[in-house]
Amino acid sequence: MKKYINNIWLGIYTVLVGMKITIIHLFAKNVTVQYPNKHPLEKASGDKMPMNARNRIFVDMDLCNGCNGCARACPVNCITVQTLKVVPGDAPPLKNGEKRGLWVPSYTLDFAKCCFCGLCIDPCPTEAIKMTTEFEYSAYDRKDLFYKFSTMTDEEIQQKKELLANFQAEKAKKEAEAKKAADAAKAAEAPKPETGELKIDN
Ligand code: SF4
Ligand code: SF4
Repeated sequence: MKKYINNIWLGIYTVLVGMKITIIHLFAKNVTVQYPNKHPLEKASGDKMPMNARNRIFVDMDLCNGCNGCARACPVNCITVQTLKVVPGDAPPLKNGEKRGLWVPSYTLDFAKCCFCGLCIDPCPTEAIKMTTEFEYSAYDRKDLFYKFSTMTDEEIQQKKELLANFQAEKAKKEAEAKKAADAAKAAEAPKPETGELKIDN
């Protein structure tokens, strides 16, 4: 009889041990939400995105210096950055006050390829590229996942290109003139060969 009661108690005890975690979570505060009925970012709910959540990326072009660090770090090559050299005197600083090194006529990111690894974020020297809290951006057409972040207009790009071409042509001209003057000065300084009769031995 004692063994019979012991077996019943052992059965109950084993179930209680097995159910311990379930019972604790039955009375604990929920950490999940019933999405989409409840939005995780609803202010009223007080819920927040988990720390380091991986969501849509945003690039602030007023901070982007065109260094290409993000594109080099991307393992799936979904970032493409095209740049244009700035002409001295025609380069307003970045939003954070830093010197602008390059214009960025084109910055594209293909979210259809992006795996949200976040490797593009850390190499950015100006913190221009960041993860946002936006995660609802599915699309019916893959083309809609191809984002263009650059803000320069076609006219601005053309104007910057012409300015750069003129600057480079002017620079090349000045360099050629300086080289010509240096060559002339060198030739003037060189010792003149002695003149004399040319003797021919028969
Ligand atoms: S999150 Fe990863 S895959 Fe997406 S753009 Fe950045 S580096 Fe590339
Ligand atoms: S790393 Fe930052 S500054 Fe450099 S190209 Fe990417 S977004 Fe722009």
